[in-house]
Amino acid sequence: MAAWSVAKLSVPFLEGNAQWSASMNTSHPGFLYNLSLAQAPPIVWIGCSDSRIPESVITDQLPGQIFTHRNIANQFQVKDNNAGAVVEYAVDHLNVSNIVIVGHTGCGGIKAVYDAVNFTSYISDHPDHTGCAHIVSTKPTDDPLNNFLIPITKLRQCLPANATNMDLTVANVQMQVQNVYKSSIFKKAWETTPGREMCVHGWLYDLSTGLLSSLGMTTCGNGKVTTDGNGKPKKV
Ligand SMILES: [Zn+2]
Repeated sequence: MAAWSVAKLSVPFLEGNAQWSASMNTSHPGFLYNLSLAQAPPIVWIGCSDSRIPESVITDQLPGQIFTHRNIANQFQVKDNNAGAVVEYAVDHLNVSNIVIVGHTGCGGIKAVYDAVNFTSYISDHPDHTGCAHIVSTKPTDDPLNNFLIPITKLRQCLPANATNMDLTVANVQMQVQNVYKSSIFKKAWETTPGREMCVHGWLYDLSTGLLSSLGMTTCGNGKVTTDGNGKPKKV
């Protein structure tokens, strides 16, 4: 892959932007100006930073439709103020009630965890999550990237020893769905507006086909009743 020189770096991006702006103003006159006045996105997208998954492009959406937070391996960690601020702003100030966690095939963050976990220390299968504190990774945890991957490392240790990379990918999405649903942000929203229905969805993006699919783990609630995607009561 060719390296970008500093002098040439801005050219394709700025020129591309100028072409895009001109095209938008031709095909959608007034759209960008009106959008500059306010936004009302229907969803929050929590996805991976991976360059191959630009959310508005792959969902064929115009600007203004997706409030976005992206990081390594599409995580919503409880103590992450960055992710928390994004969701809180969207829920409290933009009245967004649908949060989507988007995992993907071929995720570098998932692969790093999957490859790093030292199975010589693996105690046994832990379907009930007992013994999950015994985490050993062959990678050091004194840098930001590895620190950020610790929750997924722990999750890996909680899965059966023969779990696949895809098993971990899906389990990670499930963990983030639960993290958002059980967050203080949702609790506060329900205290402020009793009965407000809010949902967290889990999707998977396939890099090789460009297709998004639901993982069937949508969790909805109104502060009193929690249901799955079919409206059936669900224990979370
Ligand atoms: Zn990824």
